[in-house]
Amino acid sequence: MSARQACWKIAVVGAAGRMGQRVIACAKELPEACVCGAVDVPTCPVIGTDAGVHAGCGALGVAISADLAAACAAADVAVDFALAGGVAARMELYARTKTACVLGTTGVDAAGQAAIARAAQDIAVVHAPNFSVGVNVLCALVRRAAAVLGSGYDVEIVEMHHRHKKDAPSGTAVRLAEMVEAGAGAALPRVYGREGECGARPRGELGIHAVRGGDVVGDHTVIFAGEGERIELTHKASTRDTFARGALRAALFAVQARPGLYAMEDVLGIK
Ligand code: NAD
Repeated sequence: MSARQACWKIAVVGAAGRMGQRVIACAKELPEACVCGAVDVPTCPVIGTDAGVHAGCGALGVAISADLAAACAAADVAVDFALAGGVAARMELYARTKTACVLGTTGVDAAGQAAIARAAQDIAVVHAPNFSVGVNVLCALVRRAAAVLGSGYDVEIVEMHHRHKKDAPSGTAVRLAEMVEAGAGAALPRVYGREGECGARPRGELGIHAVRGGDVVGDHTVIFAGEGERIELTHKASTRDTFARGALRAALFAVQARPGLYAMEDVLGIK
């Protein structure tokens, strides 16, 4: 930020969505950043509405628009909680306009992941399946537990989210599975749910289960079940603001970082 600049400028992408609204509301708490753009799809019914009014935090003077290029031209960083479809095109635009990016979108396919890696050659990109500080601490604990407990413990991951969530398992559950594997020092065969005559549980299997319902913001439990004892490590998010505040912390990191692909561990300094 130059001495003349009042604040880092943020474009919120997916601005009309559940997360976009909370990012807009939580950004109001930051003295060093302000929302200068709010973008959603052209078919979004609230295009033209003040983004702060839609988010329930009072007028911002920024209308929700479908013009991502214009928003990027005015912004230092995009905080993107839009959906996975179109992520490659969005990443190309961020790279072309030299707009740093904080990407919260989950369920990104291989082509999208490749576009993220390409963009990260030109801009700072922080991509995390979960921006909550608590979940990132959970990841570190799970990795440690898997390393210490070893192969004598069966590991199962259970996640629960609200009924509107479109992808499964959650990006956080996948990240937790990666942490188990990192701790175990080996890739483990993953089983997503079980049904019918599936036989006895083989050693080393990694079970992942997605539960959907109601308005649950995000629960994750990693179970380490051994002979005669069981450890359950659980994180429960009770408000989306925990993700929004973490994403804004990542945005303040990204605007000052060199081009590259970063994780939330980089932002928190716990890698
Ligand atoms: P949502 O459906 O409520 O909102 C998504 C918004 O993005 C919608 O308004 C939609 O119109 C808009 N959108 C879709 N494609 C777009 C595009 N190409 N350009 C601009 N806007 C676009 O969903 P949500 O609950 O807010 O979640 C959004 C994403 O964030 C999901 O992938 C979800 O899994 C993820 N998420 C991540 C975290 C995290 O901490 N990383 C936390 C919560 C949710």
